Amino acid sequence: TGFDTLPLSPATLDNLRRLGYEAMTAIQAASLPASLQGRDVIAQAKTGSGKTAAFALAALAKLDVRRFAVQALVLCPTRELADQVTTEMRRLARAEDNVKVVTLAGGVPLRGQTTSLERGAHVVVGTPGRVIDHLTRGNLNLAGLTTLVLDEADRMLDMGFVDDITQVARQCPPQRQTLLFSATYPEGIAQLAAQFLRDPVTVKV
Ligand code: AMP
Repeated sequence: TGFDTLPLSPATLDNLRRLGYEAMTAIQAASLPASLQGRDVIAQAKTGSGKTAAFALAALAKLDVRRFAVQALVLCPTRELADQVTTEMRRLARAEDNVKVVTLAGGVPLRGQTTSLERGAHVVVGTPGRVIDHLTRGNLNLAGLTTLVLDEADRMLDMGFVDDITQVARQCPPQRQTLLFSATYPEGIAQLAAQFLRDPVTVKV
């Protein structure tokens, strides 16, 4: 199925064509109709499935670039994944003017990240510990958030991030949309979903 069956802007559809994205991958076709309607989604999908574009397109479609607030937050288990997600989101956001995507991952100095946040970010992609660091320091405000994404949620749990995720989610507005992506679906993920998602649609590919 083509992306043109989805309620995406003409500019976004043009950009997808330019990127060579013709048909949707299975996870995109299964999750985007629901996520673009604003539903919470639990998606069971692995790396290489096109999961990044699946959540990125849903988050980007809702962005208001004139609003200077962090509107989407993507939590990832590792710095490497955060960097990949940032790269993919910037490519997908090229259609819209001036979407600012900032990476907040551990292992690099706080200073540059703080400066980037001061200049204004619409989207933050980060690892849980570092995101909490910036929240605690008052560098990051999630009061205007409309989309929370938990990417590779099972790996985040394996790495012991459950308390960090809980702390971050509690600072997000309750009416936000939450998208949870995970390769596997152990009990811990079910508990996380029960706690932080509202009436979710579950898709598995
Ligand atoms: P991911 O599973 O998100 O890491 O994506 C795997 C790769 O597939 C990335 O290089 C994406 O740029 C690419 N990709 C994602 N969706 C599509 C699509 N619909 N058509 C072609 N390539 C895609």
